[in-house]
Amino acid sequence: MTYREAALACPSCADLLEPKEVGESIIDVCPTCAGIWVDWFDGELDAMVKGGKSAPRDDAREGLGAGACPRCGRALDAELYLDSGVPIRRCGECSGAFVSHAAATALTKIESGLLARLVAVLRRFLGPATAP
Ligand SMILES: [Zn+2]
Ligand SMILES: [Zn+2]
Repeated sequence: MTYREAALACPSCADLLEPKEVGESIIDVCPTCAGIWVDWFDGELDAMVKGGKSAPRDDAREGLGAGACPRCGRALDAELYLDSGVPIRRCGECSGAFVSHAAATALTKIESGLLARLVAVLRRFLGPATAP
């Protein structure tokens, strides 16, 4: 199964992301900051963003960095996941999204129809792997 030719760089710390298979999905995980890049949302993120509001740009302290999309190089937009306040950085070009480790952990606690696939994948991924 060929997923991608070249490794992607983490938008937060610029280390190379490592593709991980989680069930039927593949996410790219940063070995350094544990951030997760997801680019198979399709309509889910669009639906999410329609109901969401913009996050403050000054969120570097949350480990989101200020990086660009690892695929297109476009600056990532900060979005909040609906009313949860969980910040996600999203590319307006390819709809890929970067989720920090803290945000991913927060998302696993959300019960919602939106992003159900992502939440399921994150739960599966973080569940056995949360040991420090
Ligand atoms: Zn990183
Ligand atoms: Zn992009």
